[in-house]
Amino acid sequence: MDKGGGEEMKSILYMIIGIVLVTIILPMVLIFSCDISPPDIDNVEDMPGETTIRVYVKETQRVNEIELEEYVKGVVASEMPAAFEIDALKAQAVAARTKVLYQKIKYGDNGNPTHPGAEVCNDVHCQVYRNEEQLEKLHSKEWMRDFWPIIEKAVEETSGLVATYEGKLIDPLYHSTSGGKTENSEDVFTAMAPYLRSVDSPYEQDSKHLDSETVISRNEFIAKINNTYKSCALSEESINSALKILQRSEGDRVSKIKVGNDTLTGRNIRELFGLKSANFKIVISGDKMIFKTKGYGHGVGMSQYGANGMAKEGYTFEDILKHYYQGVDIEAYKR
Ligand SMILES: [Zn+2]
Repeated sequence: MDKGGGEEMKSILYMIIGIVLVTIILPMVLIFSCDISPPDIDNVEDMPGETTIRVYVKETQRVNEIELEEYVKGVVASEMPAAFEIDALKAQAVAARTKVLYQKIKYGDNGNPTHPGAEVCNDVHCQVYRNEEQLEKLHSKEWMRDFWPIIEKAVEETSGLVATYEGKLIDPLYHSTSGGKTENSEDVFTAMAPYLRSVDSPYEQDSKHLDSETVISRNEFIAKINNTYKSCALSEESINSALKILQRSEGDRVSKIKVGNDTLTGRNIRELFGLKSANFKIVISGDKMIFKTKGYGHGVGMSQYGANGMAKEGYTFEDILKHYYQGVDIEAYKR
């Protein structure tokens, strides 16, 4: 190769290096050395595969916008013990995701009338949501180190999956412990949902809520009943004959109970005395009323302890969801 050709090659090479520097490397250096501001939240909705959730935060009385999958992580971590089996956590992730999308579609732009402008709140009214900072405060640094990655895994491995019935998102109610059998939705709430049927929940033995007792003094019971339901007109003398369970639901909760001169529901009694469930028996002993309850929560839809028991038996999150939500499909969410 002669000298002149080499010089020419060199200058072409310098020119190429110069172009690369100016057009690619320099802008990159500028971008990475600058503080990149977060993307405009309004645009996230338009990005494929991303959905934002408007969460009303009770403590601050403000609406926060949170990316769907991040929101689901915060719900799974708050609504289910993180030490549960991975398939129970996955079932909870699909239920939490389905619930918020169900509400987002149901309420539209206006949001839930209880908290306008937001499809969900961060409280039990909808489903509990806590961010990583709040979770660390509630538990510990060690908890975050040991359990947060498991929560993330459960959510990421079910990313975008929802439960549908005849192609539509379901309202996936869930509760802690059914007490052996879940409830038909119309026996607890007014609406009948074809996928919220009473089913056996045989693997709840690890739940500390399976059998509980609430003790109330006889006088307190009479006073509270008479204050709230005057028509009952309970008296101390007649209390032994004044109470009679008249009807139980398919899931064994008290649906009708005679209290003095009136008839109440098990839910009335549960709410008035803070019982863990409406599946109860009453034992009167001296001046004490003992409520022996089975399970914890309303009893409709997925039992969380039942889900964990099923996972321990080797059932997958899909098996669990299809058991507690009868006739559903698990599929990717289509907007
Ligand atoms: Zn709410």
